[in-house]
Formats: sequence, C-alpha cells, structure tokens
Amino acid sequence: MDREQYLKQKDDQLKEFDEAKRRTSCFTCRRKIQNCLCHAVSPFDSSTIISLLMHPKEAKKQRIGTGYLTKATVKNSYIFSDVNLDENRDFLEFLHNPLYHHVLLYPANNPDYIDEGKMPESWKKPLREESKILVLHVLDATWPCAKKMMRLSICLQELPKVSFKNSYRSRFVIKHQPHSDCLSTIETVHHCFNGLEEMGHEEIHGLQNNLLKALDALVSFQIKCELDPELPSTRGKKPKKPKNYDFSRIREKKNRLFYWDTEISPTGTKNNKES
Ligand SMILES: [Zn+2]
Repeated sequence: MDREQYLKQKDDQLKEFDEAKRRTSCFTCRRKIQNCLCHAVSPFDSSTIISLLMHPKEAKKQRIGTGYLTKATVKNSYIFSDVNLDENRDFLEFLHNPLYHHVLLYPANNPDYIDEGKMPESWKKPLREESKILVLHVLDATWPCAKKMMRLSICLQELPKVSFKNSYRSRFVIKHQPHSDCLSTIETVHHCFNGLEEMGHEEIHGLQNNLLKALDALVSFQIKCELDPELPSTRGKKPKKPKNYDFSRIREKKNRLFYWDTEISPTGTKNNKES
C-alpha cells in the first residue's frame, strides 16, 4: 500500500467512525440517542446572546456536562470550542462584530455584578445609548482548563468581567464539583438571566426556569443510573462501587468549573472554606 492509499483508507475509516457516532448520538444535546434529554428542553428567546466557551475536553464529556443542554435551551446562544480562542477565526469574527457589547463571566478584582438588581454603569452607554446587543461569555470547562483558556486567549483577558455578588446553591447533586455552591454551566446561565431580568435588561418572564427543568431531567437520569446497576450509563460501563454507595463521594471528585459568588480567584482560595 502506498502513502496515498494509506491516507485514503485512514480518511475513510475516520468518516465511517464519525458517521457511526452521529447515528448513535443526539445532534442537539450530544448525548446517546437512548439517553437524549431533548424531551425536557423548552427553548426560549432572549435579547442577550449567550456565548459558551467550551474547552474541547468538555465537548467530549457530555454525560454530566451541561453546555449542550444550555445551548439547546437558550435559542440565542453559540458554542465556541477551543483552548486558545485567539486562534479561532469564527470566534474572533464574532468578537469584532460592532453591534455587540461583550462581557465575560469570570472572577476579577473589580468586576461588575450581574445580580445586583441594577445594570452596571459600564453597560449603560453601549446597551442603552448605542443599542448594542449584550453578549455574555461563559466558560464551560474545568477550572484548570478554564485557567489555561484564559492564559492563552488574550482576547478573553481583555474583555470586561462580570461576576455574581450573591452565592447560590447548586441543585446538581451528581457532578464533579467539590462544593454545593459550585454551579454547573446551565445553573450559571440561569442565574445570569435572573440578574438580567431583575436589572430590566431581559423580559423573559421566568422562561429562564426552562434551564432548570432541563437540569432536573439530567439529574433524575443520573440518579436513576446510579441506583440501578442494570442501567448502562452513557459511559457504556458502570464503575465498580461498594454496596453502600455514598453519593457524597461523587461530589468529592473535583476540578469541574464552578462560579463562586464574588471576587474569588480560580486558584481556589475557597477550597478551604468547606471541608
Ligand atoms: Zn437530545
């Protein structure tokens, strides 16, 4: 076999693999067809654009990831998947659209707050006077991956930052986050919409709760999987676990991205807060 034949054969195999994967996965929520959660998704419109910045590793982990469910629920949303977004042409084009005002949800020293009940001063000129569209960028990755994305992507470092002033408890009982106040991406976006509605920027009349309905379906599914040894999880096989399985142990696995309430850096100073 010469080089050309070899490359063609490899290419064909790859296409076949992709096609097989496509046939068995839901295109919308990216979960296996038998585990598809789209029945629980009620998409809604918003004036804010949600931009989900997904680490490529997160894109592959859709068993407990909530990025695609968020994308499916918020009609006005996009996913950009890259480690260094400075090199992502689609993202840069999006970022340079003069009609948009971009903010990034990320810890900073003096962030604007999205949940303070009033619009941050710095948003008023672009949104009210210049009628720009608000684009809220949310990182969908583990903390180490998110930090790497921030370190490499100068374009993200330069964006104005926004944070939560309040702390919120997560209802996502099975997840790889170390604390109950670590939010999944879908919960994070839900709280952002609450804040945007409170400040009078969104008029979606509680439709953001559709995000929680989708999350609840995911949680119910995960609990069912954990309780029923016969039910295959999306990983294909179940891990061996002791008889008296303790759910809190799942939570101890750390490193999924979470958004702390305020001012805290992702270096994890809050890790000491709770044991
Ligand atoms: Zn689906």
